[in-house]
Amino acid sequence: MTRWVLASNNAGKLREFAQLFAQAQIDLIPQGQLNISEAPEPYNSFIENALVKARHASRCSGLPALADDSGLTVRALGGAPGVLSARYAQLENGEKSDAANNLKLLEALTEVQDRSASFVCVLVFVRHAEDPNPLIAQGAWHGEIAKQASGEGGFGYDPLFYLPQLGLSAAQLPAILKNAVSHRGQAMVKLMDNLRDHKLV
Ligand code: IMP
Repeated sequence: MTRWVLASNNAGKLREFAQLFAQAQIDLIPQGQLNISEAPEPYNSFIENALVKARHASRCSGLPALADDSGLTVRALGGAPGVLSARYAQLENGEKSDAANNLKLLEALTEVQDRSASFVCVLVFVRHAEDPNPLIAQGAWHGEIAKQASGEGGFGYDPLFYLPQLGLSAAQLPAILKNAVSHRGQAMVKLMDNLRDHKLV
């Protein structure tokens, strides 16, 4: 099997990516397993952060690397929380909290009519740390920010992310359906096509 490093230690993401790549005889190793620390994510865009993560994991491991970056963009907030989605409502103790993030988002939109928003996911693959032509795939999932949370599934902003066509929040979708239509699901399909075009899988 070919070995690639995944620039994430998130168990959920690892499971989804590992399943996809196992079919292509690729063993995806989470960077923590190789004692690779998390790269700083200093940039304002998902692409830049995903790229810096992929290059870091590849440089430290000597292996091809796959990285992702994702988050929520809200039109009326100029794209916020964007790359700060995970720590939008940074708590005093420095911890991240989905509940605090959701509350802060509801407060930010109290008087706002246009509640359109998108989840965005960018995946980056580098053949080596200095790869001049990284493969990049993006997925976007469009919806609205509801006025109150609903649903028990998913994570993050899912209880507030309302899909008008379905009449449900992302937290009310069965996981298998969410994974098929979400920003991450869309980006994965595109990345796989891209890898095939370049004869990398
Ligand atoms: P990361 O890609 O793990 O850095 O995720 C960034 C943050 O974006 C997460 O902590 C969530 O707050 C938010 N986010 C990304 N994808 C989703 C999703 O599918 N549902 C809900 N929130 C998400």
